[in-house]
Amino acid sequence: MIGVGDLDGVRYADCACCQTQWNEVRLTCLCCGQTGQISYRSVETDQATVRAEVCGDCDSWVKVLYQNKNPSLEPIADDVASLGLDLLMKDTPLRRGGFNPFLAGY
Ligand SMILES: [Zn+2]
Repeated sequence: MIGVGDLDGVRYADCACCQTQWNEVRLTCLCCGQTGQISYRSVETDQATVRAEVCGDCDSWVKVLYQNKNPSLEPIADDVASLGLDLLMKDTPLRRGGFNPFLAGY
């Protein structure tokens, strides 16, 4: 999740199992910690508020929600609500880096 309240530019990772949030450095892969080959994909335009952050170093991706652009985004619910992005990424050789029990099977 990018941006919380007035704190534009901060990044928090959310655990879908226990809902713990912790601060993370932006543009850093949550799976391997590398920064060199980060890119983004989305179902919509480049202005999408939910995007896949892809790491070319470990071929994984995680979902990023831009709460600074849409304050109503909720990490767990909107992870499920953006299932279209999971289906888009399922057709790639990349693996999802995070686990959401509500998306088991997708
Ligand atoms: Zn990585």
